[in-house]
Amino acid sequence: MLKINEHYLKLQASYLFSDIAKRVNAFQEANPDKDIIRLGIGDVTHGLPMACIEAFHSAVDEMAEDSSFRGYGPEQGYAFLREAIAKNDFQARGADISPDEIFVSDGAKCDTGNIQELFSIDAKIALPDPVYPVYLDTNVMAGRTGTYSDGRYQGIVYLDSTKENNYVPDLPSEPVDLIYLCFPNNPTGSTATREELKQWVDYAKENKALILFDAAYEAFIRDASLPRSIFEIEGAKEVAIEFRSFSKNAGFTGTRCAYTVVPKECMAFDSTGNKQAVHTLWNRRHCTKFNGVSYPVQRAAEAVYSEAGQAQINTLVNSYLENADLIAKAIGELGFDYAGAANSPYVWIRGDRDSMDFFDMLLNKAGVVCTPGQGFGKCGQGYIRLSAFNSRENVITAMERIQQALS
Ligand code: PLP
Repeated sequence: MLKINEHYLKLQASYLFSDIAKRVNAFQEANPDKDIIRLGIGDVTHGLPMACIEAFHSAVDEMAEDSSFRGYGPEQGYAFLREAIAKNDFQARGADISPDEIFVSDGAKCDTGNIQELFSIDAKIALPDPVYPVYLDTNVMAGRTGTYSDGRYQGIVYLDSTKENNYVPDLPSEPVDLIYLCFPNNPTGSTATREELKQWVDYAKENKALILFDAAYEAFIRDASLPRSIFEIEGAKEVAIEFRSFSKNAGFTGTRCAYTVVPKECMAFDSTGNKQAVHTLWNRRHCTKFNGVSYPVQRAAEAVYSEAGQAQINTLVNSYLENADLIAKAIGELGFDYAGAANSPYVWIRGDRDSMDFFDMLLNKAGVVCTPGQGFGKCGQGYIRLSAFNSRENVITAMERIQQALS
């Protein structure tokens, strides 16, 4: 008899999201003429930058000719893209990352989800609460947690991110091995200063721990004093891995391209205490289980770094940031406390009521869909997330409706 991996039965998050879908469908059925505005999703809404489209087209044409056709590519990504990433995203900001430390992939979701399989099953995991649910769920699937009760899994060290700590968690009070951090944060929109990241790097060094730093939203950082990469912090190369994505800066959510930086200095330990390079392990995994991103997509991603590409992604990100600003202003005028919006596409709103009641109120009174905060962790209870990924027109209409309904 074939048995399942019973750790999957412990998973919780999908219940909330299917419940949300049911409530939205029921509302639409009861109000067929009402135009629902979805400010709940993290997907982008604008088309790809023209520089990417042109590069994409011409790479597709190359695939038609025997002389320029490309079959299986290097699993780690083509050199042209890895070199452009190293130069523009890291070396230009004083972070000494080389192209062969970059692994191109089809998503930060897959990479942040898969990375845990390099580490022992008894690794002690620290996770911000609230945060992008993939980190937690993949550790649940792997069997690193006990059962779920009262909003939390046994065995996980939760790093509470609350108004009191400005949504930047404090160091754990017990030793941990693997630390997930996400800045700008999904869902709170919070960012971490150099000093705050330095504390984490020092902690990781002292405790022989590793930081998994998700910088999927780094393009939204406009405050020049904030680090965009953990590798801008001295010593981070020994203790951190960074995840990046073309999804949110260049609109590649459907096109799929991302990358993970695994510095060669980055070490974990075998059972006899010997150092093992995480780079070697990830390279082995990547080559065994991943086929590489398609050539045209990598050419499209490379175009992000052209002069035209940089200008176009800047316009794209600015338009979402302006949406975030409009949302924040309207919410502030209604007297709600909020975080995010600056340096992030998300606005994290404290409702002083149950998240699901807040969700129902916005849906039923304003026809606007948000994401209830507890979908991101127990500390999200009482909050909702609004996303700036929408058209200007929809954001303006949604905020007018919310203001009308609640004031
Ligand atoms: N990391 C965070 C924090 C996210 O919010 C998301 C998507 O919403 C991702 C990663 C996924 O990125 P990708 O589209 O590259 O898989």
